[in-house]
Amino acid sequence: MLGLMQDYQLTVQTILDHAALNHGEREMVTRSIEGPIRRYTYRDLRERALRVAKALQKEGVGIGDRIATMAWNTDRHIETWYGIMGLGAICHTVNPRLFVEQLVYIFNHAEDKILFVDLTFVPLIEAIAGKLPTIQKYIILTDDAHMPATNLPNAIAYETWLAASDADFTWRVFDENTASSLCYTSGTTGNPKGVLYSHRSNVLHGLMCNQPDVLGAISADNILPIVPMFHANAWAITYAIPAAGASLIMPGAGMDGKSIYELLDGEKVSVSAAVPTVWLGLLQYLQENKLALPYLDRVLIGGAAVPRMMIETLENDYDVEVIHGWGMTEMSPVGTTGKLKYSTQHLRGEERVKLKLKQGRTPYMVEMKIVDDEGNDLPRDGTTSGHLLVRGPAVSKAYFRLDEEILNKDGWFDTGDIANIDELGYMQITDRDKDVIKSGGEWISSIEIENTAVGCEGVAEAAVIGVAHPKWSERPLLIIVRKPGSSVSDDEILAYLDGKIAKWWMPEGVEFVDEIPHTATGKIQKMKLREQFGGYQFKAVD
Ligand code: ADP
Repeated sequence: MLGLMQDYQLTVQTILDHAALNHGEREMVTRSIEGPIRRYTYRDLRERALRVAKALQKEGVGIGDRIATMAWNTDRHIETWYGIMGLGAICHTVNPRLFVEQLVYIFNHAEDKILFVDLTFVPLIEAIAGKLPTIQKYIILTDDAHMPATNLPNAIAYETWLAASDADFTWRVFDENTASSLCYTSGTTGNPKGVLYSHRSNVLHGLMCNQPDVLGAISADNILPIVPMFHANAWAITYAIPAAGASLIMPGAGMDGKSIYELLDGEKVSVSAAVPTVWLGLLQYLQENKLALPYLDRVLIGGAAVPRMMIETLENDYDVEVIHGWGMTEMSPVGTTGKLKYSTQHLRGEERVKLKLKQGRTPYMVEMKIVDDEGNDLPRDGTTSGHLLVRGPAVSKAYFRLDEEILNKDGWFDTGDIANIDELGYMQITDRDKDVIKSGGEWISSIEIENTAVGCEGVAEAAVIGVAHPKWSERPLLIIVRKPGSSVSDDEILAYLDGKIAKWWMPEGVEFVDEIPHTATGKIQKMKLREQFGGYQFKAVD
């Protein structure tokens, strides 16, 4: 027997309708690409999103068409998101940090019809437009006064294009499982893969992220999403925040410490979210200028492991709660957050920091477990490491236009991460499965050694790879980039690690380099390092 509840479709435009009707006066603040700060309200946002939808329809865009955006976090970008999705088309957010060949590949793989592009990225697109046959029109996210001279085919200023439309439009009606948006992973190996979100998955994920143990947004919050809308579904913030009715503060292209601080302070931001490198830049700026963060209550940090120093400094010196998060594009992307819970809230000092260094526990709507190489479930004892598998309503079941089974027979998705889970449900990533170091049959966590090593004076960046060893099969090699002007030695670094990591994890060798290779999204390219140090010989072999 079916329940007798209404057949209300969970489409993302209902979020914007809710925000405009019930929080219509709340502001959206944008640091514009042209320079000045721009302000309007959720009511204005909805009106302009409706105009985008109507204008796109006039262009012949319909359900299932892919419309690309390459843009920073701004009011205009979010208008296009909702306009595209409310029409039933698919908003394809393109990450400008990908390598040029990857960009050409994904535009063509997605067969995008139109591209909305920020002024910043016009030269990048001009250089490849000749290789993008499916794109019929380029809409530059600016007004006529700032329109650059460009040879892009059918280029038009967004404001001019929008002025020819009006908001007399009704959102299209369609099934909640309709595709809403497309986001390619950066692809450390092979071509990028398209993750195709649905309206339902985005609505559910947005609500999940509003749970108090995740972002916990309330209508009185002012939220600054620094994590770009072109990376990993903007951590669902563009859905979660309008649903809560909180104010959105959009940083535009200003990712440096000074620009971020100005918004945090000037707009009384209470919650923010970004990857660790952004917080590093901000902390440096705050320390140099002796500034405080009186309004900021909590920050979500993820995408890479959060260093100990960052947790300690933000919490102890600035009284800002750090919520360590983990996830991936395929998970919409939030998988875990590390808020304290009833049985851990009393923790102080080292115990508290240790827990916060873990990637956290799953909110409702994410299931997670670890398994061994044969797929057998492993215990949640906080020490046993295994392959981390997930499932849930906002986890991918296939990649866009890729005929490849990505779930196991029970419907679990292998994240490619290696982790342990403790009795209380807190998960800790120890490695990527491709990077794992097997020494004497046991796994060594390269991530933990790296995180510890960056705490050593004079170390700017650290990477650990496994190198073949006659007795132990593999041993860790620590690769270090020194801070400018530092002459920190291998012995000093090893002495610093001593006692902070397990004895048998101690790197067998330390090498210094000028630079560590990174992927387009800032992750260390261990594959490149393994090539670089292929055949490496440790000095003393016992
Ligand atoms: P990309 O940046 O390559 O496009 P994702 O953002 O989807 O792709 O990357 C997801 C991966 O990033 C995870 O599988 C994990 O390895 C890593 N990651 C994300 N958050 C954390 C974290 N808090 N600690 C350690 N690793 C993390």
